[in-house]
Amino acid sequence: MSQKQKLSFQAEVAQLLHLVTHSLYSNKEIFLRELISNASDACDKLRFEALDNAALYEDAPSLEVRVGFDKDARTLTITDNGIGLSQIEAVENLGTIAKSGTREFMNRLSGDQKADAQLVGQFGVGFYSGFIVADRITVESRRAGLPPEEGVRWVSAGAGDFEVETISRPARGTSVTLHLREDAADYLSTWKLKSIIGKYSDHISLPILMRKEEWKEGEDNQGGEMVLTDEWERVNQASALWSRPKKDITAEQYQEFYKQISHDWEMPLAWSHNRVEGATEYTQLLFIPSKAPFDLWNREKKAGVKLYVKRVFIMDDAEALMPVYLRFVKGVIDSADLPLNVSRELLQESRDVKAIREGSTKRVLAMLEDLAKQEKDEAASEEDKAKYGKFYAEFGAVLKEGLGEDHANRERLAKLLRFASTQSDAVSVSLADYRARMKEGQEALYYITADTLAAARNSPQLEVFRKKGIEVLLMTDRVDEWALNYLTEFDGTPLQSVAKGAVDLGKLQDEAEKKAAEEAAEAFKPVLARLKEALKDKAEDVRVTSRLVDSPACLVVTEGGMSMQLARMLKQAGQ
Ligand code: ADP
Ligand code: MG
Repeated sequence: MSQKQKLSFQAEVAQLLHLVTHSLYSNKEIFLRELISNASDACDKLRFEALDNAALYEDAPSLEVRVGFDKDARTLTITDNGIGLSQIEAVENLGTIAKSGTREFMNRLSGDQKADAQLVGQFGVGFYSGFIVADRITVESRRAGLPPEEGVRWVSAGAGDFEVETISRPARGTSVTLHLREDAADYLSTWKLKSIIGKYSDHISLPILMRKEEWKEGEDNQGGEMVLTDEWERVNQASALWSRPKKDITAEQYQEFYKQISHDWEMPLAWSHNRVEGATEYTQLLFIPSKAPFDLWNREKKAGVKLYVKRVFIMDDAEALMPVYLRFVKGVIDSADLPLNVSRELLQESRDVKAIREGSTKRVLAMLEDLAKQEKDEAASEEDKAKYGKFYAEFGAVLKEGLGEDHANRERLAKLLRFASTQSDAVSVSLADYRARMKEGQEALYYITADTLAAARNSPQLEVFRKKGIEVLLMTDRVDEWALNYLTEFDGTPLQSVAKGAVDLGKLQDEAEKKAAEEAAEAFKPVLARLKEALKDKAEDVRVTSRLVDSPACLVVTEGGMSMQLARMLKQAGQ
């Protein structure tokens, strides 16, 4: 590749770039956050690869990001000494959309330029954000471990194509040079850049350096100006956010940090930051998002928790740190005990990891309990009151998986469940609410499962309950059936499906009703015998029931049998 090569962007990139460059919007400055975050990711990657191969550090073991500008050339350059890019990587990673976040962004585009432009501003589109302010970007890079002659220069004006050529680059890592548009010249200012870095990138755990400025008097005392010196100084705090004391961190800083690690553009619903001491020491900073990702239902989906060991990034998506049913939680766990070269396999077996996982699970449940408590707190703001409902609408169904998966916390989880019922259209009835308003003599919490609320509500199996004014929970999530297998009682009261077995209303029936039922059973014996004979291949049993009021007959499954809902689900799944 020693010759200059012209290559085309993947069609999706071209489309994205068109949007980025043809729209003006209020939040231009996010380009710097995106580029610094890439620089920081590149340093994390180097650190990780160097665990097995220390030679990758070459002669520059301290990792850093430098932000410089040249007023006359109207350029802004972000340089890191991280992992760098090989020529092939430059073509692949900068010429195609590989990451799911950007893909999702593309899916959300509405075609309305103004609305879409706003979306770019909130979301950031990674590397391509540079074209918000630049009409040309030059990337020069050399991958750690490759010889200086195998550097690469990548240049693009953000239209349909880009050029790559081989260069010689002694320094490891990457510089991204933005040739700023005329209207973006105000970024050529130390003050401006510092303030943006402070806003978005303060917690980046490596130093971000800028040239020091000095006041220079003008000639003959004719005014003066700030000029850049050759000395570099750190402009961010460079202490990992989670390692700072809670009291020194503002809500905005937590929110900004969340956006950075989650690639989410909405605010988190809640977060929890703790240093845990004892046999296993670690810091946890965990967030509950306010919106479910598009791939929430994929149980293979990676967990959103990053693992650090003593502030050194170890890995993304450390699934051993969080149970699968809490896969929506985002955050950071920083362990003081694990070895730096810990592998995924080792994680699975580590006792420290087990303790961290248990501690983090408890922490997340406590956060949810707090949100649920706010819901009923008179003193809470309307916004706070609405939070648990919001959470539950997005993640309630996933939480239910925990009933089967996490026996130790089953009771806590059960308290967090919410359902619709014959007395509530909203999915807001907790088992405790229901239990508190059970009818005199009622001995079970009744529920029915169905595909939709309407189907549940209109089921003939509810007739007798309606007649007696007994509330029944209506369950319509696909996981309900499976999850409820694991929850046979709540606070000592059994949960009972109204579609299973002979519903025993026990004390809810008065003597006259009981007697009538017994007499009917006796009187209908011959009929039942004939029906049984006629249906012998289709029904296991035929009996007189007291659960119907208006309908002549209904189907039920045997106690302990697979429910019709579950049977339908399995059939759909081809089993
Ligand atoms: P993301 O950071 O989410 O992967 P970006 O669009 O920001 O997406 O960057 C795309 C890819 O380009 C990165 O995944 C990385 O492979 C590469 N890249 C960008 N900036 C750098 C850099 N400074 N050093 C090394 N690789 C980089
Ligand atoms: Mg990025």
